[in-house]
Amino acid sequence: METFEDYQESTFRDRPTTFSKEGKRLWLFPKMPKGKLYNIRRGIAWSLLAFFYVAPFLKFRSEPLIFLNFLERKFVLFGNTFYPQDFHLLVLAVITLVVFIVLFTVIYGRIFCGWVCPQTIFLEFLYRPIEYLIDGNSEKQQELAQHDMDAIKALKRILKHGIYLVISFFTILTFVAYVTGVDKLGEILDGWPLQNFGILVGILAFTGVHYFVFAWFREQVCTMVCPYGRLQGVMLDVNTILVAYDYKRGEPRGKGERGIKGDCINCYSCVAVCPTGIDIRNGTQLECINCTACIDACNSVMKRVKKPSGLIRFASEKSISEGEKVRFNARVIAYSAVLVGMLVLITYLFTVRGDVETTIIRSQGTMFQEYGQDSYSNLYNLQMVNKTNSKVNVELKLLTPEGEIIIMGDSLQAAKDEVAQRNLLIVLKKTDVKSSNNHLEIGVYEAGKLIDKISSTFVGPNSLDKQP
Ligand code: SF4
Ligand code: SF4
Repeated sequence: METFEDYQESTFRDRPTTFSKEGKRLWLFPKMPKGKLYNIRRGIAWSLLAFFYVAPFLKFRSEPLIFLNFLERKFVLFGNTFYPQDFHLLVLAVITLVVFIVLFTVIYGRIFCGWVCPQTIFLEFLYRPIEYLIDGNSEKQQELAQHDMDAIKALKRILKHGIYLVISFFTILTFVAYVTGVDKLGEILDGWPLQNFGILVGILAFTGVHYFVFAWFREQVCTMVCPYGRLQGVMLDVNTILVAYDYKRGEPRGKGERGIKGDCINCYSCVAVCPTGIDIRNGTQLECINCTACIDACNSVMKRVKKPSGLIRFASEKSISEGEKVRFNARVIAYSAVLVGMLVLITYLFTVRGDVETTIIRSQGTMFQEYGQDSYSNLYNLQMVNKTNSKVNVELKLLTPEGEIIIMGDSLQAAKDEVAQRNLLIVLKKTDVKSSNNHLEIGVYEAGKLIDKISSTFVGPNSLDKQP
């Protein structure tokens, strides 16, 4: 019986499945999958699509649910407002997400691609179903593609691509709404096409790109463009759980007596539904997005021929070749430790992040001043960011050592989204100024409640200057 290595050798290919020998694009006509996993995927995809299109209209604590204003560097996520001062949190969140995806890939392969990646969700659950609706199933689509252009084909093409363009346009408008907010988007649309002409051109250009990706480029994004897809080779190992064909059970394929032939009846149902056009029986391949369509297809075939399901299933190469259970290797444990550490850190930082962020810096180039007979003063610049949706009034008090804080100008208050800036003097008794650099702790109070503590320094004369 041939080994898996022989088997792989015999099915070696030197180009993606969608390229002909001459390097031309081969168009795919995948069948619409049916089965349990596809139903779950559809539920997830439609929920995510609904959330994507509706979220810009939803408000929480009088702010949009999600608001990504890159221009004014203000971000709102589920009622929490983030400013450039919170940039470290954003960086940490992005790093955590990347580590999470890498860890997930090491353990579960490319499941992110097939189940939640926006490329797959838009293509398989929005654009492709429209194609099935207008052009018919896979066979009818192929017939139509080979048919000369006539009135019916032209009508179908115009209808399909017209709908694609409308969806692309509204999708890009939705993206813009995440950046500008729906109210501002309404103002932009109000004056179209003469006013805001530049924005209109930008939106139309992105609509064109979106349409091109989903109407024509399609699976090439996953195979040729996506860096995450190209990184798979270094993240997967023999313990990774992914969509795999049980060649021990399936080979030799073909119809025949049990014991002489394997369970695979070589019906090609798994290939027919594959959105990237591969034959999973050739082993893990770079095009596989772990969408599980081939699992559904093969399970329904197995049911028909009265054999156990799971000829194609989620399994690791090791579990198939050695019949072992999935093991967590050192790499998975190390990644998990890093991930848990980062999650704890980011949760802590989000929890201690206050609604008001105050920074006090000693004015550049200033030294201490005599203040009256028995005190010294230092001049400071204060900046207070109000991250809440209402006006805040705060008071500052010196916690250590004892002293006085004199705010110049108006009392310390900031409206919603406002950054208040003031100059202030800190006055300390000469007897409390022990050295040329003294530590200060300042309390920030809102309605009498301590909401933040800030540390700073107070410059005094050095000990020699103090000698009588
Ligand atoms: S081989 Fe199976 S899991 Fe992989 S992309 Fe094709 S249908 Fe999806
Ligand atoms: S669907 Fe199952 S039985 Fe049919 S070719 Fe694929 S692996 Fe073999």
